[in-house]
Amino acid sequence: MRLAIVGAGIAGRLLAWRLIKSGHSVELYDKAVRGEEAACSFAAAGILSPLAELEMAEPDIFHFGVRSMELYQQWLTQLSQPVFFRQIGSLVTAHGSDKVELEHFYRLIQRKADNDALNDTPVEKVKVADKEPDLSHLGDGLFLPSEGQVDTIGLLAALATELEQSDNLIWHDGTEVDAVNHQSLTIAGKTQTFDWVFDCRGLGAKDELPLRAVRGELLWLQAPDVSIQHLTRLIHPRYRIYVVPRPNDTYIIGATEIESDDYSPVSVRSSLELLSAAYSVHRGFGEARIIKSVVNCRPALPDNLPIIDTEEGLTRINGLYRHGILMAPAIVEEAINNFEQLSQKVTHASNS
Ligand SMILES: Cc1cc2nc3c(=O)[nH]c(=O)nc-3n(C[C@H](O)[C@H](O)[C@H](O)COP(=O)(O)OP(=O)(O)OC[C@H]3O[C@@H](n4cnc5c(N)ncnc54)[C@H](O)[C@@H]3O)c2cc1C
Repeated sequence: MRLAIVGAGIAGRLLAWRLIKSGHSVELYDKAVRGEEAACSFAAAGILSPLAELEMAEPDIFHFGVRSMELYQQWLTQLSQPVFFRQIGSLVTAHGSDKVELEHFYRLIQRKADNDALNDTPVEKVKVADKEPDLSHLGDGLFLPSEGQVDTIGLLAALATELEQSDNLIWHDGTEVDAVNHQSLTIAGKTQTFDWVFDCRGLGAKDELPLRAVRGELLWLQAPDVSIQHLTRLIHPRYRIYVVPRPNDTYIIGATEIESDDYSPVSVRSSLELLSAAYSVHRGFGEARIIKSVVNCRPALPDNLPIIDTEEGLTRINGLYRHGILMAPAIVEEAINNFEQLSQKVTHASNS
């Protein structure tokens, strides 16, 4: 079968890799040139938090997330390039006056996750100092043992290597697709036909889907005076921030969430919020250096849920919103299952 994928963000790359691994030949199209880090996926902090995301998300996101954690453990070992992945649990905490928000968060998670799920992935009430000695001033917190993180840029690079090394993949980078249809693409005024097309364009599909952009900003800090091992979320009445520890004293502080398709640099207001919250978590951030600031826009559908729409000759994957890195493996798995089932049915019907 002749397969095309449009979009080489996390969804498109992971899908291309899994399809070629199961024996298919794929043509991958992206308007960005290889090496360019323009896709939303390159901005992601790489947080893998199925439970904590339940605060703002629906249980579907949790279920995709739990399955993805299993798949990440299997799939990352199949990549020829190592990717930083850590699953040592996450902390959720709040300052004294905001502890009521933490209790609210706890109750919300308990209510949204079903009991079976909570048995497998419990939320533990802890003293923050038991997990992070330097954060004893934060008092009580919650520990979510199953949560983790992945180096998104490393993952995208490792996937690119797999794709480039495969004889079953042609990567048309720097190629904008004008129209995506069932079994065809229009590129520079010419129509090309395929047996199946996968649309993974994120916000690039906004003419066909009711997508909106949700701006996110985050800062990368180099902080030798800080020692935090766990992904740590700070609950605050106005905003939520997280501190993501990476190797070599690097921390990602994120992320804002603004209903806007503005790609301009990080604002002063956002920087103040992110940095003052980080400083309130650990005074050592005062002497940190800001090594990178990142802005991108998340592709969101009206219900903030993802879609995997499968029709004969066309699969649309979109709406990955704020959990795309978390959900991508499970979404790709489901998309491939749906595609294989429907294409077999169609072949069977046309043969009989
Ligand atoms: C600041 C920030 C932090 C985030 N942190 C996290 C996190 O910690 N954990 C998490 O799970 N998620 C996180 N996310 C969300 C995550 O990044 C997104 O959900 C995910 O990247 C969406 O992936 P995608 O593949 O659908 O789209 P994209 O990454 O946007 O990829 C779409 C691709 O399609 C290409 N394209 C578009 N139109 C065309 C066209 N016409 N022709 C050819 N190519 C086209 C684009 O060039 C792009 O490469 C974060 C997002 C932001 C902004």
